[in-house]
Amino acid sequence: MLKKILSPQTCAKCRVCCVFDRSDIWEIPVISDELKSKLSGKAEFVERDGVCTFAMPFKDGEELVSCPMLTGSGCALGDDKPFDCKVWPFRVMRLDKSTVGITVSPVCEHISSLPLSTLCEFLQEGLAEEMFDKARLCPEIIKPYQEGYPILRIKNM
Ligand code: SF4
Repeated sequence: MLKKILSPQTCAKCRVCCVFDRSDIWEIPVISDELKSKLSGKAEFVERDGVCTFAMPFKDGEELVSCPMLTGSGCALGDDKPFDCKVWPFRVMRLDKSTVGITVSPVCEHISSLPLSTLCEFLQEGLAEEMFDKARLCPEIIKPYQEGYPILRIKNM
């Protein structure tokens, strides 16, 4: 979905979006019922704030934990990866009771190096509407707003 601005090769060298610490538990991808069924017996899941995600074995410290689907050659899920992963570093975030926005994570070094105008133009080519449509259908993908995340598009929802 992001190939025009983020090549698979660039992603393969990084993988920062597939590794989590306790402070970014909210970023662990939302798992749909369909994907959960497909992965039955291959991964463990937990409900967090009413949303299904991968169970991650965090201990007491600030250690980094890889997503259980991360392999030496990248994500084992290929095209089946969760919507959250397909669109990262873009996110739909709740800005207030009636407004959501598409934001971009500053954690992705490559995307963050691009001008915000380039990202806005890219979103306008179709991804923004796709993300808002998905958020309407699956509001569980809407994240709480995170300080420091530039807001690129907003919508009443
Ligand atoms: S599902 Fe795949 S792309 Fe998503 S965090 Fe896990 S390894 Fe990364």
